Amino acid sequence: MELKITCIPGDGIGPEIIGEAKKVLDKVAVKYGHVMNYTDVLMGGASIDVHGVPLTDEAIETAKAADAVLMGSIGGDTTKSPWYQLPPHLRPEAGLLKIRKALNLFANLRPAVLYEELAGACPLKEEISAAGFDMMIMRELTGGLYFGERKTIEENGVRKAIDTLTYDENEIRRIAIKGFDIAMKRRKKVTSVDKANVLDSSRLWRNVVIEVAKDYPEVTLEHMLVDNCAMQLVKDPAQFDVILTENMFGDILSDEASMVTGSIGMLASASLNDTKFGLYEPSHGSAPDIAGQNIANPIATILSAAMMLRYTFDLDKEAESIENAVKQVLKDGYRTGDIMSEGCTKVSCSQMGDLLVERI
Ligand code: NAD
Repeated sequence: MELKITCIPGDGIGPEIIGEAKKVLDKVAVKYGHVMNYTDVLMGGASIDVHGVPLTDEAIETAKAADAVLMGSIGGDTTKSPWYQLPPHLRPEAGLLKIRKALNLFANLRPAVLYEELAGACPLKEEISAAGFDMMIMRELTGGLYFGERKTIEENGVRKAIDTLTYDENEIRRIAIKGFDIAMKRRKKVTSVDKANVLDSSRLWRNVVIEVAKDYPEVTLEHMLVDNCAMQLVKDPAQFDVILTENMFGDILSDEASMVTGSIGMLASASLNDTKFGLYEPSHGSAPDIAGQNIANPIATILSAAMMLRYTFDLDKEAESIENAVKQVLKDGYRTGDIMSEGCTKVSCSQMGDLLVERI
């Protein structure tokens, strides 16, 4: 199979971690008989330096012509870089918003996995972390409170701010379908998170999710109120498989789930539209403080590439081969600086890539 991938190395550690991800994908291609067809485009500061804007229309067209986009990270040191002297619409992060909008990426996926070997980094009590966890937070990304009408007015000399939380059934249905599709590739359980005891938008959310669930008889559906979910994530994270939720709840819960893993360099992510197309990137930023030193952890990006194989290309076996290589490399005691612990062998970014390639 030929895989058409647009790569966005971006800024900071971006080019280093994308380089390692390509190395791993190339090994997968050789092993399983695929062809990786990469086209690199500039975005963020790298694009500003060349084109004067964080993302050109040509770059968007290149991304649209591919099956998937694999991104490193964009942005620089926000206190020192000249990119942050520019007006907001010309800064690196504007490219990120522009590409998400242009590609209609409404479903955000953030896996939170606690690897046995990294359990020491988990801030939870040992009796909780001992059970491990492996969950996927599915967040609706283009609707809800962040995109509703908003205004600040003055009434009788009192300032008043209004934000509107709107969802229509189609917006809910398409993310619910994605959520159930993804649960079918995992442990077949969906926890739909809402605030249906208070909000109309949540009651509609719950009803539409129940309707969609009828097409997935193998998937167990449960409903959980968002306040309870925030508690359960630290009390018993092992209970979750897919957490399906709206934009703002997902924003907060996905950060909470990331934090309980304790390892920023290990966290992958994906943003999908209603086709198989997706943009895959690590959850972390461009880490300008360690850029160019070959010490960044490339695993979050490499695991994002594994998500790309699974969700855009339906290459589950190939995705698993990467995930198993990550588990094996941790078991064998190799660590980049950010996840280093006593008794382990410290390796560079490129060495980590090589070790993963050897294990595929
Ligand atoms: P950051 O995630 O880049 O870094 C936070 C800390 O984690 C730093 O100490 C960094 O060295 C470390 N770190 C991050 N990733 C690492 C890795 N793979 N291996 C080892 N250590 C790692 O967050 P920040 O410092 O707040 O932001 C830096 C820049 O990244 C900013 O310009 C910000 O806007 C941008 N950013 C971009 C994205 C994106 O492209 N999607 C996301 C978040 C932040």
